[in-house]
Amino acid sequence: MELIHGADELSRTTRSWRADAFEVGLVPTMGSLHEGHASLIRHARDEAARVVVSIFVNPAQFGPGEDLVTYPRDEARDLEVCRRLGVDAVWAPAEEEVYPPDAPLPEPDPGPVGETFEGAARPGHFRGVLKVVHRLFDLTGPCRAYLGEKDAQQLFLVRRMVEQMGLPVTIVPCPTAREPDGLAYSSRNARLGAEEREQAGCLFLALSEAAALARAGETDAAILVAAMGREIGATPLARLDYAAVVRDDTFEATTLLRGPSRAIVAASFPSARLIDNLRLPHAAEES
Ligand code: AMP
Repeated sequence: MELIHGADELSRTTRSWRADAFEVGLVPTMGSLHEGHASLIRHARDEAARVVVSIFVNPAQFGPGEDLVTYPRDEARDLEVCRRLGVDAVWAPAEEEVYPPDAPLPEPDPGPVGETFEGAARPGHFRGVLKVVHRLFDLTGPCRAYLGEKDAQQLFLVRRMVEQMGLPVTIVPCPTAREPDGLAYSSRNARLGAEEREQAGCLFLALSEAAALARAGETDAAILVAAMGREIGATPLARLDYAAVVRDDTFEATTLLRGPSRAIVAASFPSARLIDNLRLPHAAEES
């Protein structure tokens, strides 16, 4: 496995792979790798001849007062995980390699969807996400990029950027990997104390209740949202940030469940803010 730090070196490496007709798969991460990242890497390994994992805690997607400085980092362990999973190259750049001080980079506009939910809670977050993802695509030239459904709004916005800018990459959405109690793997879970960890399952419980209501034929999104709010509201250490039902095709909140849609939640615990989502069954699928 190659460990690459420089931007030019990354481009050279992937260019030579493409010249040898190898398809390049990219898994962008912020490191502190867990089972969720591993599932993306395995997916990439199955489909692409060469797999690049990027590890970069992107300052541009953190707001003032957020956890940029304390974000969990463990490069030695991450490299071991990547080696074990058969990754061909890890790109672990310094900030200047991603954002060269003398070269302005494209800053794709997340548009109005970038201002809602995670974008409302974290102003500027998606602008930073799209900037780094665009840069990663530009340097790596991947045929496919593997992104988790865990970050559904991010996935939506990256797909839309690719579509609108006509970028030559296929986005491959990967299902959320979960702990036995349903908690989605997340680098931030490591921060939860024992009691918080025990209660963190409430996000998945809330989403599962919404899915059960939809499965039983409920089409009023407000009923689902209220159920999710009650579940998280009844969890002593959790503070509900938002619960909503959004349409898959627009990521806009909907009042009536018709086509493909998703329940989304965010809740703050004393040591970490967690997000999760679940695709909802809908009538057209049941018939
Ligand atoms: P992060 O390191 O948190 O920026 O995540 C890197 C990639 O892994 C993103 O595409 C995430 O959506 C994805 N990811 C994070 N957690 C999970 C999970 N539990 N299951 C599947 N994918 C995940």
